[in-house]
Amino acid sequence: MNLIRNPWNLVFFAGFVVYVAVRGRFARRTRANVLTERRVDALERTLLVVVIAGGTLPLLLYGFTPLLAFADYTLPPAAPWLGLPIMIAALWLFHRSHADLGLNWSATLEVRQGHSLVTDGVYRTVRHPMYASIFLFSLAQGLMLANWLAGWCAFAPFTVMYALRVRREEAMMLSMFGEDYRNYMARTGRLVPKCGGGKAAAD
Ligand code: SAH
Repeated sequence: MNLIRNPWNLVFFAGFVVYVAVRGRFARRTRANVLTERRVDALERTLLVVVIAGGTLPLLLYGFTPLLAFADYTLPPAAPWLGLPIMIAALWLFHRSHADLGLNWSATLEVRQGHSLVTDGVYRTVRHPMYASIFLFSLAQGLMLANWLAGWCAFAPFTVMYALRVRREEAMMLSMFGEDYRNYMARTGRLVPKCGGGKAAAD
């Protein structure tokens, strides 16, 4: 079984269990939220299915069956060693962004009753730290699993989801929080801090 054939596969799957556990914990916490805005159309629903099914199925097939062996390839020996610190950083940022959003977190384009705009913690300098953490985790996956499909099954669909979702999410936040979100946008970057953003924040 692939899962135990290569120790890096085990390391990655252990990280994946932590990733799913963090998500599960916050999903349970926010279950009782009352929603005031929901912008989930056919595009958003399709993206969710593609990212969740596309990101999980190849992993399970790779870990527990020989079906994806045709897509195996050889990674440079340094790749997983580079992937490990990226995975640890990703898990930290994934956890922190969920914790900082608190009850305002949602897996999709939704606003809850009593929603507040979070601009502190890991949200102080970037608007999408959770998406940044998902990119980092998906990159670590590609660096640790020596298989084209299992390695990149998260990165590729998430890039499409991010590209199609981020403007819609920001438009929703602008319509909910108006000037406050506009000012927040002016001093933050999407995935990495904005150059000179700190100065704008102090004005
Ligand atoms: N894009 C953010 C949050 C992802 S969760 C990130 O990558 O960190 C998606 C939900 O979070 C959105 O539907 C929206 O309701 C909420 N959200 C996004 N940014 C927020 C913020 N700064 N404050 C409060 N809620 C936010």
